[in-house]
Amino acid sequence: MNVILFGPPGAGKGTQAGAVCERHGLLQVATGDIFRKNLKEKTELGQLARSFMDKGQLVPDEVVWKLVEDRLAQPDTEAGVLFDGFPRTVTQAELLVGWAESSGRGLSAVVALEVPDDELVARLSGRRTCLSCGATYHVAHNPPSKDGVCDRCGNDVVQRDDDNEVTVRKRLATYHRQTAPVLEWFGERAVRVDGTGAIGAIGARVQAAIGS
Ligand code: ADP
Ligand code: ADP
Ligand code: ZN
Repeated sequence: MNVILFGPPGAGKGTQAGAVCERHGLLQVATGDIFRKNLKEKTELGQLARSFMDKGQLVPDEVVWKLVEDRLAQPDTEAGVLFDGFPRTVTQAELLVGWAESSGRGLSAVVALEVPDDELVARLSGRRTCLSCGATYHVAHNPPSKDGVCDRCGNDVVQRDDDNEVTVRKRLATYHRQTAPVLEWFGERAVRVDGTGAIGAIGARVQAAIGS
């Protein structure tokens, strides 16, 4: 079972991913988290990704696909993957669907979280992230129980460099120009879910979308 959790930056993909993975025994593959891990470890890939991330642009498709393809070759992905933040272009979607067909590993669901832009800006501007485990919080809506400390792993919770209002606006423009067409490309294969309201209520909608 392989699932795509799709949506604009700030839609709640990371927030919802944990429960879905737990329930279905999936491994979360979040391309943004992989880039940030590389950044932290100062790898060449990290430096390259940063030059795009800082500008609110997408990392080139060939770089992203090489990374995802290598990840999917590892045995821990065989039981199923939840893709978070991938695919972000029609080319990436074509490559993934091609892989799903040729490998026989398939694609079971595409769930798209829908949230209006104004709310996305408010969510991203208040977002705090644990750079060790990828957990996300919100200063007002979903703070960690101890200020600045990750509930899940105990490491520091910080504001991402690209979660400032100027870069957030650019990322949303990038989403509308390059990523929203992916949803059209999937057509009826994608199930659209209202991504507003309480986190638990959205989780139930996501669950229903995967089940159907
Ligand atoms: P968000 O949680 O706000 O959606 P991510 O952590 O998924 O952000 O991604 C952060 C940045 O990493 C993106 O703005 C982009 O520059 C880069 N990135 C992540 N995933 C991809 C991808 N699939 N294709 C191209 N660039 C990506
Ligand atoms: P994505 O992975 O899609 O970029 P996140 O899961 O990181 O999005 O969520 C973005 C921000 O919005 C985080 O600060 C998160 O705590 C907050 N958030 C997530 N879901 C909700 C919700 N239903 N209502 C309010 N804030 C939310
Ligand atoms: Zn953590």
